[in-house]
Amino acid sequence: MSEQLTYKKFLNQVKSGGLSLPEYYQELRKKIEAEDKEINSLLAVNNTLDERAAAAQVRYNDGTNRELEGIAVAVKDNIAVEGMPNTCASKILEHFIPPYQATVVQRLCDAGAIFVGKTNMDEFAMGSTTETSAFGATKNPVNKQYVPGGSSGGSAAAVAAGFVPAALGTDTGGSVRQPASFCGVVGYKPTYGLLSRWGVTAFGSSLDQVGTVTLNCEDAALLTSIMMGIDEKDSTSSSKVPENIKNFAAKDIKGKKIGIICETLENEHTDEAVRVVMQKKIEDLKAAGAVVEMTSIEEITYGVSIYYIIAPAEASSNLARYDGVRYGLQIPRNSDEDVKDLFTKTRSQGFGDEVKRRIILGNFVLSSGYYDAYYKKAQKARIVLADRFMREFDKYDYLITPTSPVLPFKLGENFDDPLKLYTADLCTIPVNLAGLPAVSIPIGTDAASGLPVGMQLIGKRFDDGLLLGTGEFILGGTK
Ligand code: GLN
Repeated sequence: MSEQLTYKKFLNQVKSGGLSLPEYYQELRKKIEAEDKEINSLLAVNNTLDERAAAAQVRYNDGTNRELEGIAVAVKDNIAVEGMPNTCASKILEHFIPPYQATVVQRLCDAGAIFVGKTNMDEFAMGSTTETSAFGATKNPVNKQYVPGGSSGGSAAAVAAGFVPAALGTDTGGSVRQPASFCGVVGYKPTYGLLSRWGVTAFGSSLDQVGTVTLNCEDAALLTSIMMGIDEKDSTSSSKVPENIKNFAAKDIKGKKIGIICETLENEHTDEAVRVVMQKKIEDLKAAGAVVEMTSIEEITYGVSIYYIIAPAEASSNLARYDGVRYGLQIPRNSDEDVKDLFTKTRSQGFGDEVKRRIILGNFVLSSGYYDAYYKKAQKARIVLADRFMREFDKYDYLITPTSPVLPFKLGENFDDPLKLYTADLCTIPVNLAGLPAVSIPIGTDAASGLPVGMQLIGKRFDDGLLLGTGEFILGGTK
């Protein structure tokens, strides 16, 4: 297929008659068939693409085309698209087809978007490599010996491979930003509450947000402007409309005050290779007139510990519903067994190791003997961390960190070392704990390995449009 088009260019070409939707989707199907066997970014491909493309083309021809008519979007397999599987990359939901649609998906659908397929992910979004998927790992299109990151690794790989200009993911502790960084594309996590979570399979409900993987920040803003807004089905959704999210423009960085969180750049977990690419970008920002200085947020170093108490606690409760009765897989009990045996068998065989680890951890920190010592303390520490971020924004317009302190891992490299993977979430997790918006921008590659490095730009709550505008400027203007 020809050059990967951003939505703006795509829509302009379709409108001017330079691009035929049926041809585009035919080529897209062929490309996916030829290339995704190896990459494994899509768990299911929509089998009605040709009909949908033809219908969208008719709308252009008769002038009834809607704002996003005909754009191709891939959706992570934990966000419900009516009529398509929603496996969460777990055996326990292998044959589950939701009879409903997530609000964010419905809104894109109403604007004319076409859903190309459901993307691979870490099982129930727990992981950082997409290797915990029950349906095989995804490979990083930049270098297929490496993981694409996770948990939205399928979404990032589908965009990086040129299958779709954008994909939806979910981000509980970095799952949109980190894979975007590993695959050299843009990954954006909105302010908590900007997008409805209805129809999105819950992991850590106080942390989860749907986010976008795109080629530039403008497309992230475009999709968000359609998906956002209050939803009566999600009481945490907000009606706030961030400045610059509609009628989007890149925002000059001149005169902006930017703080580099030193704990994320200067620590033993951060690769020298990442530091080198970051330093170069920091010099560029200064040359463009930004005031960039080091700042310390010591509390950030507790982020991983806080998260790995709160997220498993919420997950253990959210995942209790998969009992073999209400959804998906059911391993039948023997005639001498009771319903508890059915639950146990189904859950033992249906969940993978990482999910079980989190459920056990979650139950432990919520149990009566340990609730105060772990869960309650983590909640208090979370508030301290969030407050600390607020104070930092009295001084700075934006904060920056590497998105990941390390370069992409080799496939299989850390599969048996969960703790190492947990600590690599150092830079992204605090943002979810504080409910802030952040975007990962590809800023270059490591000279030795050619692997991508991403920079994370963090903004104030509901400053999403300005954040993306600044991100676009850093990225080098609208592509
Ligand atoms: N890597 C983190 C985890 O495993 C983040 C996951 C996510 O954001 N869904 O929990």
